Amino acid sequence: MSQQAITVLGATGSIGLSTLDVLARHPERYRVHALTAHRRVDELAALCRRHCPRVAVVARPEDAERLAAQLADMDTPPEVRFGARALEEVAADPEVDQVMAAIVGAAGLPASLAAARAGKRVLLANKEALVMAGPVFMDAVRDAGAVLLPIDSEHNALFQCMPAGYVAGTRGAGVRRLLLTASGGPFRERDPATLATVTPDEACAHPNWSMGRKISVDSATMMNKGLELIEACWLFDVPPEQVDIVIHPESVIHSLVEYVDGSVLAQLGEPDMRTPIASGLAWPERIDAGVASLDLVARAGLRFEAPDEDRFPCLPLAAAAARSGGTAPALLNAANEIAVSAFLEGRVGYPAIPAIIDAVLTSCEAGSAATLESVLAADAEARERARELLPRHAV
Ligand code: NAD
Ligand code: MG
Repeated sequence: MSQQAITVLGATGSIGLSTLDVLARHPERYRVHALTAHRRVDELAALCRRHCPRVAVVARPEDAERLAAQLADMDTPPEVRFGARALEEVAADPEVDQVMAAIVGAAGLPASLAAARAGKRVLLANKEALVMAGPVFMDAVRDAGAVLLPIDSEHNALFQCMPAGYVAGTRGAGVRRLLLTASGGPFRERDPATLATVTPDEACAHPNWSMGRKISVDSATMMNKGLELIEACWLFDVPPEQVDIVIHPESVIHSLVEYVDGSVLAQLGEPDMRTPIASGLAWPERIDAGVASLDLVARAGLRFEAPDEDRFPCLPLAAAAARSGGTAPALLNAANEIAVSAFLEGRVGYPAIPAIIDAVLTSCEAGSAATLESVLAADAEARERARELLPRHAV
């Protein structure tokens, strides 16, 4: 088979690094076309030496200069570009077969969308893009004939449990219900009275997964599961009422699909993102991901619990936004991004996260999400409102 060219958006992140680990195991199948990072120039330079991309992208011109200088002694140094437009270009480049969309947050939307519009195989980790702009993103996938492969472990599990030949964005024949599993994060059993004083490091200490800091906080608040509920509705064309969330602290069952005949199919495995990444890269084939075999005996005793909405108020907020539709999920996502980054910077306490999101959703009116402009306007409005609320929650 001929080698496929891959662009990795967000190469220095947790998903980006896991993707490069899988790609490096299969040099006969894949070559790296472009690697992108935001500000981590030294890390990106090291990745360029190891994976020899044709193009490398960073955020600012001064970062690009520094990166180019660091790589000048390579035999074939990558072409170094900078800025948001360059991200879109490496996502849509005619040379590229697959794009790993692994930038975190709304910042990833334009490049993820550019990959879809260019008809690529889009490996979507950047869930915020779909949460914000579901209708626009799914229309782009359909219009351009892109192939959308979910990388979020739960959605990848659901995808794998769909009927043979299933295409993301369509309703799976005979599907009654989707069951999204959630670990419950680091605060599943913590005394709620002590949550007011948790630190960013405590919130990021996930029991089963090692991830970027934003998604780690989202896992602690369970906003991550709320975003995943909305993500699932777009990926699998189901209303939110057909998606149930169950806490499963061991993170061995990654999600389940229930069919009308009562059959329930699940995908299991060690909690290692290289499994969904390898599944997406090679789909419908299978390749080695470097992941250990699942030892069911060692992991005996899988538990399941209903989520407690009082402990995790972000869950009902997300479910309400999912039901409202339109730009409500974009408002939710933007408010969450501002609140989480303020929490990570030590500017607000942990309980401010749901409080700010709730206040933004109450004060900003949701409208139609049919165009990118309307989605970006809602995103900007919610960010501004959330920023205004920060001083009220200052620690
Ligand atoms: P991370 O913080 O580890 O990495 C983020 C990457 O995006 C980095 O390469 C960073 O340089 C880049 N980036 C950040 N801001 C940017 C900006 N403004 N412009 C351009 N690039 C920017 O995050 P992560 O944990 O790898 O998560 C990436 C995405 O994958 C998120 O949307 C997350 O929800 C999703 N996801 C992650 C995991 C996981 O296990 N880490 C699992 C499921 C889904
Ligand atoms: Mg997930």
